[in-house]
Amino acid sequence: MEKKISTNYKKSDLDKFEKIITNKKTDLYKEEYNIKEAIESSKQEYKHLINSQTATDIRLYFFQTGTLKTKMKYIKMNQSNEDFEIPVPWFLIRHPKGDVVIDGGNAKEVSEDKHAHWGNVVAAYDPVMGKTENCIDQLNSIGINPSSIRYVLHSHLHLDHSGGVGRFPNATHVVQQKEYDYAFNPDWFAKPAYIRADFDKPGINWKFLRDKNDDYYDLYGDGSIIIIFTPGHAPGHQSFLVRLSNSGYVLLTIDAAYTMDHWNDLTLPGLVCSAVDTVNSVKKLKKLAKEKNALVVTGHDPHAWEDFKKAPMFYYD
Ligand SMILES: [Zn+2]
Repeated sequence: MEKKISTNYKKSDLDKFEKIITNKKTDLYKEEYNIKEAIESSKQEYKHLINSQTATDIRLYFFQTGTLKTKMKYIKMNQSNEDFEIPVPWFLIRHPKGDVVIDGGNAKEVSEDKHAHWGNVVAAYDPVMGKTENCIDQLNSIGINPSSIRYVLHSHLHLDHSGGVGRFPNATHVVQQKEYDYAFNPDWFAKPAYIRADFDKPGINWKFLRDKNDDYYDLYGDGSIIIIFTPGHAPGHQSFLVRLSNSGYVLLTIDAAYTMDHWNDLTLPGLVCSAVDTVNSVKKLKKLAKEKNALVVTGHDPHAWEDFKKAPMFYYD
């Protein structure tokens, strides 16, 4: 993977580099001056300036709206009844053409009254979510105003992914038509996973993608955010390939692979609408991850999730 160093310095930064170099030239006039070294050290010294102005950079932030206390068998099909606690991730991509939220985790209302908002589902998936662990407060915590979000990309509309619907007044919400339709009329076994109040809201600007016809949809036309149709766990599930100039490719499988066991063909997720599609979607993503040498981020693996850098302290760029 080619690693590029950001070269978008402000004129004022370049002037500072120049000053350092000039001073060092004077100090070290008797020695041969190593210009490369001086540039490197000045870059280090002004790292905070470089990081704070990123007009053309793309950044990926990892967030979570708390966790779900559940049972192993609900995450790994036919496995044990032992307790298992999973993270509820969501993501922000800062892009020069407009900021993008992926999913948004649990709805804010879950932190206020989980029983009122989720009903009986709480018995199987018990949310642990603080009052400010919702996507709006979390964006505010890193200085981002909800009105600046241009797109919300929906992997699918299950209850732990639908927290971003209708929270961003200027956003277009991108979802698979199949997923949207199914969410309003799910089969009996999938019904508890869809909370209609989360997505049946007035005034939402939806953009519908049409499964294979729109596969590998390039959001900004620059190859930085690609939407991949990955049905199986839900009929209109989609995953995301993000290209970052320093970190390389990051593949957000979301629930197309719940855990690394699922990614490695050792288990199916506890909830599937088509086992065959679920398996084929992993196959499809594995091929892509290999081609792009991508960092793979699965949907709800508590152990793998520990190792990723989380907002606001860290980010991928
Ligand atoms: Zn799901």
